[in-house]
Amino acid sequence: MVHGITASTVKFGGFSPVKPIPNTLTAVKDHTRIFGDLTFVYPVISRRSRGLSIGINLNPDKKCNFDCVYCEVDRRTPGLASRVDLAKLQDELRWLIRFARDGELGKAPPFNEAPELTRVIRDLAFSGDGEPTMVPNFDACVRAVIEIKESEGLTDAKLVLITDAAGLDKGSVKAGLALMDQNHGEIWGKLDAGTPAYYRQVNRSAIPFERILSNLLETARVRPIIIQSLFLKIHGQAMTDPELQAYCERLNVITRAGGKIREVHAYTIARPTPEVWATRLERVELSQIAEAIRNNTGLPVELFD
Ligand code: SF4
Repeated sequence: MVHGITASTVKFGGFSPVKPIPNTLTAVKDHTRIFGDLTFVYPVISRRSRGLSIGINLNPDKKCNFDCVYCEVDRRTPGLASRVDLAKLQDELRWLIRFARDGELGKAPPFNEAPELTRVIRDLAFSGDGEPTMVPNFDACVRAVIEIKESEGLTDAKLVLITDAAGLDKGSVKAGLALMDQNHGEIWGKLDAGTPAYYRQVNRSAIPFERILSNLLETARVRPIIIQSLFLKIHGQAMTDPELQAYCERLNVITRAGGKIREVHAYTIARPTPEVWATRLERVELSQIAEAIRNNTGLPVELFD
């Protein structure tokens, strides 16, 4: 948001012409989930959202059923809350939307580096310090966010779920997804591997790989989803060709079985991770992977490095 801009000149939820967002901005590099004394919401400039995204942190307790080697959540320090207080979440969300709308977010570091990017709230994203589908009342959380989205006039803003896909088969999650479908919902499901062995190596989860794949398929049969895949080097070794072929085949299995994949987001490590041997790919390496995915699946692939 531009310094001093008034609420009446701020467009919320609309979509202005999109320019690439440089990955050198602090607000892009630093995706901290802590803003002021807020517990359940936080602002980020997201390249994948193409601007200002308000994160909804359903896991301030930092609970996750994955333990990705590239995870940037600091689990050495305790989480802030062990359950989602819906009334507090709504109060915080309303406050942050208005803080942005009144021009104050664009004045606050690090957002003052690019205040123009805070003019439009692109989405409200269930993301945060863990896996959003692990909360027992996911549908109630979605309903609470939709109430504020509507009352604050964010009619066109997307509602995004960023998920590791492990909980997409739960009843309350399916109910929440159905609510999202009616409110510009978008599901970004994680798939980082083609084989169970690589999945165990990268995502280090006790959830069977087959369950992740079947959840992605069943969810994609109901509405188009986005697959988000992080490619990296482990001890200097990028994903091998056979693994990449297996990964592409997993996507093909989904689409052949009637699942709809709108696009693949291919990205790499952008911020420091606790595992020093998990490192980012060079842009040329990520481009080659994106090209291989396009060639082997026919899906659109967008690259974020
Ligand atoms: S799924 Fe997300 S929050 Fe969970 S370990 Fe992986 S990167 Fe971290």
